[in-house]
Amino acid sequence: MPLSRYLKIYPDREAPGYFLLYSTKKSSTVRLSAALLADAQEGTLSAEHLATLKRLEMVVDDPAAERAEMAGLVDSTNAKSSRFKATLVLTLDCNLACPYCYEEGFRGGFAMSDETARLFVEYVVKEQIGRGREVELRFYGGEPLLNVPLLLQIARPIGEAAAAKGSKFSFSLVSNGTLLTRSVAESLTPLGLTSAQLTLDGPREIHDGQRPFVSGSGSFDAIVENVRQVHQLVKLKLGGNFTRDNYRRFPEMLDALLEAGVDPVLLEPIMFAPVLPKSGEPLPKDLGGCCVSNAEPWLAEAIPFLREETLKRGFAVLKPTMGICMVELDNELVVNWDGSLYKCPSFMGWPELSVGTLAGGFKDYRASHNLTLWQNERCLDCAYLPLCFGGCRLLPLLRNGVIDEVDCRAGFFDATLERMILPDRRFSSR
Ligand code: SF4
Ligand code: SF4
Repeated sequence: MPLSRYLKIYPDREAPGYFLLYSTKKSSTVRLSAALLADAQEGTLSAEHLATLKRLEMVVDDPAAERAEMAGLVDSTNAKSSRFKATLVLTLDCNLACPYCYEEGFRGGFAMSDETARLFVEYVVKEQIGRGREVELRFYGGEPLLNVPLLLQIARPIGEAAAAKGSKFSFSLVSNGTLLTRSVAESLTPLGLTSAQLTLDGPREIHDGQRPFVSGSGSFDAIVENVRQVHQLVKLKLGGNFTRDNYRRFPEMLDALLEAGVDPVLLEPIMFAPVLPKSGEPLPKDLGGCCVSNAEPWLAEAIPFLREETLKRGFAVLKPTMGICMVELDNELVVNWDGSLYKCPSFMGWPELSVGTLAGGFKDYRASHNLTLWQNERCLDCAYLPLCFGGCRLLPLLRNGVIDEVDCRAGFFDATLERMILPDRRFSSR
């Protein structure tokens, strides 16, 4: 029985003579002696060892069937899905004025109208809850907490319709964190608020330069205080946007959270990500430490460094895991403030990538979004396919103005995956 093609094998640097087998499909790791690895490669494992590796999907009956299964994974995931997820832009207004804001070209004092909100509620109740699906909403902006009455106008009737049908309903926030006080969190949790994604861009000095209030004053202290007040009530997903020039200082932000009395065990995994250029605009000549490709060599240093520093301080990080982009998932949608529909919030800077409107329905977006981008010989044979699926669609869009190529992560994973799975064996991770 041959080894899975979606497997990486690394020498175990802590145990000479042993190897780590890492399944990119299952995010599982096993350690084998050199002799057992040779048996696995030659197909001479004992029945007991074979059964273990089979359970972990590290060996397969039929490599061609495994490859075909991966090729059909998006279709089978869509067919099985019983959950509808929507990201709603309640307003494009914001109380911060981040100089790098990717929405800068189209942000403004725009808010979703009552009529658009009504159309959305009607669509969800009839087409999603009515068909037995669970509903997860993600309120987005701008800053969604600038428009709490509209949030309630949407969450309440959907929550009631779901309850009447015996379906699950929950919602989350993507917020800058300045308005998520304890009293706001307490008022929203009974309606279905379960989590919030907040941003802290490094220590105060860096954060306040990258994420000032509109007035120009810093937002770091207000956000840290809200994190402290709310993290026992709502699951908080903290992230930060780093550049090539400042990522080394980002762990200081974690130190500040610890000093403020935040319990790292209560937080969701920390997600640091590079600053990207602004949506819908030509690339500037000087990227100023932003990122337009996963192939940028400095990322291969920055991401493992930040993972390790995060774990060292007792915070969790996400394991590399199988992930299908929301663009490919039939039941995931972005609803812009004006009722236009998108497949990714980052695409709102390119109106030609709108996939329809709430009032007028959907249009076919398979060609414009190049959905079969990764269904080629090279990707289907690539050990990293389960972690990549062609990479982020936004990056070729930023580079070329169209989604015309994969953003290949092979070089990045070659340089980092071994290092990224190793700390998970030394520190706790989720
Ligand atoms: S908080 Fe978000 S939406 Fe507001 S300016 Fe900053 S990046 Fe843009
Ligand atoms: S884009 Fe690159 S890393 Fe991703 S699956 Fe294809 S070959 Fe592998």
